[in-house]
Amino acid sequence: MKILKDLYNILMPRKCVVCQGILEPHEQYICTSCSMLLPRYPLKSIEDNEPLRKVWNFAPIQYGATLLYYRHLSDYHNIIIKIKYKGGQQLGIKMGEWAATEIAHLKLAEKTDIIIPVPTDSERKRRRGYNQAELIAKGMGKVMDLPVMNLIVKKGTGVSQTKLSQSARKENAIGSYKAVIPVEHRGKHILLVDDVLTTGATIGNCAQAILANDPQAIISIFTLAYNANK
Ligand SMILES: [Zn+2]
Repeated sequence: MKILKDLYNILMPRKCVVCQGILEPHEQYICTSCSMLLPRYPLKSIEDNEPLRKVWNFAPIQYGATLLYYRHLSDYHNIIIKIKYKGGQQLGIKMGEWAATEIAHLKLAEKTDIIIPVPTDSERKRRRGYNQAELIAKGMGKVMDLPVMNLIVKKGTGVSQTKLSQSARKENAIGSYKAVIPVEHRGKHILLVDDVLTTGATIGNCAQAILANDPQAIISIFTLAYNANK
């Protein structure tokens, strides 16, 4: 098996998702130098931070954490692109596992009862075959030993959010999610998970949908990255 694996690595060298450099055998997805320079978002204050304040425009949220700055022109945005569009399912799960270990010491991790990923509309999920937020959530659930449940559905509009202006995106998102929380999970602390937080409208409207169905729920949020430019 090792010979086959070595041969495979010679013919199909594994590349760093960020810089495209050839990975060493012990490296996975991201090379050591890119890992050391990850544009990290500070985890110091999960009770009050910039992305959390954006989401407060839409819904009350207890704690909020994000791990990376999403910078459009940085090579690091390749991590999100790979998970979202280029068949990076395993990378999505790995990033979720990494995220869970990074936030393990925070109250946000200690208090959470269940994890719910932000849904994509069913048409896009069908085309792509998976929901990137769900992959991150699955990786987190595995490490945190928590159930990951798809309890929110998007009432599809067919309009790609990325093609809309900020205000149109907000309009488009409002009222477009529906949550059904089973009786046994009501009044629990829910961790809502998504890949990138930009305006906060998407995750905020998902939180609204949960609270409309389960007013006693406590909601915290985690996103892999935060796009601070909008
Ligand atoms: Zn690299």
